[in-house]
Amino acid sequence: MKIYLSLFLVTIFSIASFGQAMPKDADPAIWQKALKIHRSAIIIDGHNDITSPMVDDDFDLSTNSIGKYHNDGDPYHTDLNRLKLSGITGEFFSIYVSGNTLKTGGSMRRAMDLIDATYREVEKHPESLKMCFTAADIVKAKKDGKICALMGIEGGYAIENSLYALRNFYRLGIRYMTLTHNVTHDWADAHNDEKRNNGLSDFGKEVVKEMNRLGMLIDISHVSVKVMDDVLDISTAPIIASHSSARGVANHTRNVPDEILKRVAKNGGVMMINFYPAFLDDEYNKAENERSARLKPQIDALKEKFKDDRLAFNEAERKLFAENPIPVPSYTRIVDHIDHMKRVAGIDIVGIGSDYDGVPLLPAGMEGMEDLVLVTYEMLKRGYTETEIKKVLGGNFLRAFQQAEKVAKINTRKISAEGRLRKIK
Ligand SMILES: [Zn+2]
Repeated sequence: MKIYLSLFLVTIFSIASFGQAMPKDADPAIWQKALKIHRSAIIIDGHNDITSPMVDDDFDLSTNSIGKYHNDGDPYHTDLNRLKLSGITGEFFSIYVSGNTLKTGGSMRRAMDLIDATYREVEKHPESLKMCFTAADIVKAKKDGKICALMGIEGGYAIENSLYALRNFYRLGIRYMTLTHNVTHDWADAHNDEKRNNGLSDFGKEVVKEMNRLGMLIDISHVSVKVMDDVLDISTAPIIASHSSARGVANHTRNVPDEILKRVAKNGGVMMINFYPAFLDDEYNKAENERSARLKPQIDALKEKFKDDRLAFNEAERKLFAENPIPVPSYTRIVDHIDHMKRVAGIDIVGIGSDYDGVPLLPAGMEGMEDLVLVTYEMLKRGYTETEIKKVLGGNFLRAFQQAEKVAKINTRKISAEGRLRKIK
């Protein structure tokens, strides 16, 4: 009986090799090899926004999210089963705090809510998930067949200008912080907002130093290029971009320019590529902007018509977009960014930062996180070695994280900085 059961399980496992059926035109031998590499790799994804619906809509990870939409109208990419199918070992749950809280207040409280929601999901699903705080935790989780929940803050204003708060966030398990989101705030400039601080202010520089001392990775996604440079001037530990692609392939301000990529190579950091088509491909970005401008009168009319029914509005908007389709780049475009980063700055800086559940769509061929193996397949097809593929999937992040931990240990004897921005300017 036992033998039959394990045979049955083995069969199921090889058929359901991750969520993705072999693409029609795929080479079966390369596909099988890709599955094997993917299965044995430590895979770390830099950014997942499922945390927001976990708080706002009581989304439980055990819900089957395939074909379902967030209340803001975007499709779900994540659930527990999809996470298992993805092969991911360590997922960074984004503690994303909207820039609106700079006006309304409550930045820190929002972060607290999201952190608690992450812990509670792990408490609900201890057979699959585990809170992880160190590189060693991630390695152990892979051995134990568990998936690590890691946390990173998105929007440095969540610390409300207090290094005391920053330290407490570290104690709660935050292991990276994106210094801005899309808005400039008291101590750091965003990629697409006013350049009020000329990069990082003096207090912003203190934040970076304190993050180094703690062992919290500095995340340069969303910041201005001057902030990227300032961080690289100051940081004694490797830095990350948790979810940014290469500006040399798609010239978007959310992406990282070549000269920064080269500096990151010297710093030992990792640039984790974002899967959002508008960050991957200039043509798509242009087409999307044109479509939004063209359909604005219709969208405004729908907003008015369904002003009391958000879900009906979402559905009507989706229908309108479906009637006005634009070509979506293939998942292979992700690997174009990997190629570029490797060419400019070496394979050791490349990682993955999907932005699942934070973006309105994924590249063609990908429905959700269960399709991640396609990246492995495409890399293998383009001649990447198993060692290189494993570096991109998680090895590079693990190395950078370990180094940041070492730097933090060196500094623990130093007395903490005092910690509060008493006066702005
Ligand atoms: Zn983001």
